[in-house]
Amino acid sequence: QRALKAYPGQAIVDLSALKANMAKLVSWVSASGSGAQVMGVIKADAYGHGLIPSALAALAGGATWLGSAQPREALLVRRAGIGPERCRILVLMYNGTTAPLGELIAHDIDISVGSLTGIAQVAKAAEELGRPARVHVEVDTGFGRNGFAPDRFDEALTALKTHAGRGELEVVGLWSHLAVADMPNVPGFVASTDAQVKAFEDFDDRMRAAGLEPRVRHLANTAATLSRPEIHYELTRPGIGFYGYEPDPSMGVPGDYQLQPAMTLQAQLGTVKDLPAGHGISYGRTYLTQGATSTAILPLGYADGIHRSASGFDRSGAMGREHLGGPVRLMTKQGPRLARVSGRVCMDQCVLDLRSRARDLGVAEGDTVVLFGPGRGEAQVEPTADDWARSADTISYEIFTCLRNRIPRLYL
Ligand code: PLP
Repeated sequence: QRALKAYPGQAIVDLSALKANMAKLVSWVSASGSGAQVMGVIKADAYGHGLIPSALAALAGGATWLGSAQPREALLVRRAGIGPERCRILVLMYNGTTAPLGELIAHDIDISVGSLTGIAQVAKAAEELGRPARVHVEVDTGFGRNGFAPDRFDEALTALKTHAGRGELEVVGLWSHLAVADMPNVPGFVASTDAQVKAFEDFDDRMRAAGLEPRVRHLANTAATLSRPEIHYELTRPGIGFYGYEPDPSMGVPGDYQLQPAMTLQAQLGTVKDLPAGHGISYGRTYLTQGATSTAILPLGYADGIHRSASGFDRSGAMGREHLGGPVRLMTKQGPRLARVSGRVCMDQCVLDLRSRARDLGVAEGDTVVLFGPGRGEAQVEPTADDWARSADTISYEIFTCLRNRIPRLYL
């Protein structure tokens, strides 16, 4: 309640939805017969949902691993009392740069290595600590980001064997990341993933031939977890599905496994006022009111993480183009209704054109409005993060992860 008074907006995270989403992903993996375990990907403050509550929900839903990007995130999980007996944690994005490696090893946190520098640094930290580090070798099967390219893999294997022989490294896993598994609209998306799988299996063969057996192989994000059971291997790494979204809204999720968006972003309306037709709204006058109308202040702006690209442009043609601003659900006397961000998103607020008189709608200052939630999309009048992503020309992932700490997270 205090948060509601002190802040003009809040993100409500439904922990039971997070837990249920993970339970569905776990049961889907188990029904597929792959025997794989599931890692809850909780990087970037659990995609903006809050690290520790989300980590606990993932474990309650049946995940046995957690995946972080940065060492700090993994350490925060351990410091919150989520110990090695509860779950394994893997730092996915250790890049050979400065990191508290000794602390990671001491806290039983697995580390990804994808460069010779990374291997050397982790081995050095393990030697200093007098205890082996558990590492997962990242390979580049076509994503072109981190990981060993095929032509450098022999050097990597030699270094891994040397350090394993000295008791500095325990080589646990082999992993890679898929480029287009979640993008059914990319031409050749099936063939491209097939090529990555083939490359992954070649790396696996080479590793085994070198006498290093990767016991935990992982390649599948949410999309591949749901659509390609043949590449679950020993572990899958869903992120966005855990938070209740399909990686791509056109992908769809099998019938019984519908996921529920866990976050609802709400705000309390600020100033409501009447304006005449043809009135410019916000910076640059990119939007002109079409008729006598009322506007309301949405008290969140780009400093809160609302994308400026979700601004709404003029329908009258003054800008020479139209752009639909981010949608917001109002409750009116006549029932739920959408209003849109009209004109430019500002630093701390946006303007909504109500396209009617507020008094006729029964809309007033202090009303709670919903930017996105678990509703079924704009047509059903509660927008989702996918609807905001469309307005902002981005993906739902960025909509959540950009939400700043000015927006308190409240947990149901
Ligand atoms: N694994 C890695 C290495 C990632 O970077 C990500 C997300 O970016 C995931 C898994 C989870 O992907 P998704 O959220 O599409 O399931």
